[in-house]
Amino acid sequence: MKCENNECRYAFFKKEESYYWCPYCGEIVKDNFPKHQYLREKILDKNVEFRTFIKYRNRGLIIFLHFMVIICGVAIFYRGMYLTPSESSYQTHAGNMLVKYGFYYHIIIFILCNPSLLKLKMIRAIIHNYAWYLNTTFAKMTKILLYVLLIFVTNQYIIPYYSTHFFRKFKELNMHMEPIDFTVQLYTFLFYMVLVFCFVSDICELYRKNLCKNVLKDWYYKKT
Ligand SMILES: [Zn+2]
Repeated sequence: MKCENNECRYAFFKKEESYYWCPYCGEIVKDNFPKHQYLREKILDKNVEFRTFIKYRNRGLIIFLHFMVIICGVAIFYRGMYLTPSESSYQTHAGNMLVKYGFYYHIIIFILCNPSLLKLKMIRAIIHNYAWYLNTTFAKMTKILLYVLLIFVTNQYIIPYYSTHFFRKFKELNMHMEPIDFTVQLYTFLFYMVLVFCFVSDICELYRKNLCKNVLKDWYYKKT
């Protein structure tokens, strides 16, 4: 069973086949829609609530993506400002590496952690219907552990890696620390923002699923 919205075409999991609407875009499933006028109106009201939620969630995603671009843009711009001919080759190398890998790091974390329909479709192509378990409360709790692990690895290993390999040498060579220090602080801030955003997105996913399930709980046995 697939969503009739051509832009979505979400394939329903077995447990979702009795839903009144698509759990991703809110498109009504005609075959499941009750004939009783009162129930139809009630479900349509709930559907409007669901679509409004999806609209705001999508807006939040777009705003956050802009925020990420701005922060990475500031890091690159700041790097450009301090790229002077007097820089040693080591300084240039260190600065460029930091900006480049910091950028990749956040993009990868965002893609891996943020739940999205496209990612779900890709995972489903590999593990088929087991992908259902990715949106369970247990899976989301496991993801919170993953976030804690990421914070630990980043703070304990990745940032100190730059400290030992770049900062120490910078000090030895008597170079200016400020530009690189600022970039690390900026990226650290972005790192926490990415994790907070992914965490909020996970909560939104649970809420989205609940909006569909609660309608079923209220009206499933009243279907006419
Ligand atoms: Zn859909």
